[in-house]
Amino acid sequence: MPKPVKHLQTQLLDWFSRHRRVMPWRAAKGVRPDPYHVWLSEIMLQQTTVVTVGPYFMKFIAKWPTVKHLAKAKLDDVLTAWAGLGYYARARNLHKCAVTVANEHAGKFPETVEGLRELPGIGPYTAAAIASIAFDRPAVAVDGNVERVVSRFFAIEEPLPLSKDDIRRKAARLAKDNPHPGDFTQAFMELGATVCTPRKPKCSLCPWAADCAARKKGVAEDLPRKVEKAQKPVRYGKVYYISNRRGEFLIHKRTGQGLYEGLYQLPTTEWIDSRTAARKLAAPVRITGLESLGAEVRHSFTHFDLILEIWIGRDTKNTRLAHAVWISADNIDEYALPTLMKKAIRLCMNGNPAKSA
Ligand code: SF4
Repeated sequence: MPKPVKHLQTQLLDWFSRHRRVMPWRAAKGVRPDPYHVWLSEIMLQQTTVVTVGPYFMKFIAKWPTVKHLAKAKLDDVLTAWAGLGYYARARNLHKCAVTVANEHAGKFPETVEGLRELPGIGPYTAAAIASIAFDRPAVAVDGNVERVVSRFFAIEEPLPLSKDDIRRKAARLAKDNPHPGDFTQAFMELGATVCTPRKPKCSLCPWAADCAARKKGVAEDLPRKVEKAQKPVRYGKVYYISNRRGEFLIHKRTGQGLYEGLYQLPTTEWIDSRTAARKLAAPVRITGLESLGAEVRHSFTHFDLILEIWIGRDTKNTRLAHAVWISADNIDEYALPTLMKKAIRLCMNGNPAKSA
């Protein structure tokens, strides 16, 4: 490493004290962060952007100002407030974690990485982020931003994810013995998010530019390299928008385990690998006169892409389905409906000839 680590740390911390962004969950300079806010934001920010998370974070802390309030909330209400953020296992674990902190830790988050790792939904990255940001513990949280900065600063040619261990070791060297672990963690991430960006890094604004190996070699934008991903499998199925005379439509709660557990959805068939076979799947509701809307909704999950053909129908016999309710467009936000289902509902409302009773 070209300069002593101390010097690099000072450069980064100075830069951060001048350029730190204001965020709803970030404590003002010199103020001790609220661990509840740090934890909540870190869980929400997993796989989700700062811009998207902002309003959700504000909604959560307005509804549930402390972890004890969140622990007392019904899981259904938490899922409803979470609807649209995706990756719903996070919301279920969030609630479980709040209950654990409230009941087993008297409402106080553990301060160490080890203690935090014991809690539901908290992996190594999140534990390190909370320990350092909320409690100023010397822990190194390596997110995608930090991975990019380190890959470039050291001009690591090995592709991700193979280079992860090397990146973690090098990030730890850069963070070692710094006097402000919380600020350092945030500064590291902030540098990646605002200056060392995936495209067109702004090296002229970077506090580490003079020592950055990738900048010197002119390969900054090519790094980090990534192992090519195998294409995701695609699953197919059908989704049904059943309306009634009152202009309401049918949704039901998904039970059992797995994706969308505990959330509401339009009735769907199972999701299978063959488009041709999916077309022949029987509807989960007995309605005569079902017809295809000639439209599809698509959604990308972590491990597969999903394409659902939309079917519409008119209920005249008061159809029943386990855990089902009839709702109208006006009370859609009272139910935990994933984005995929909201997309399908919007399409049907725009294109459904039977939408007005
Ligand atoms: S000099 Fe450029 S490439 Fe290197 S860390 Fe800074 S922004 Fe990233």
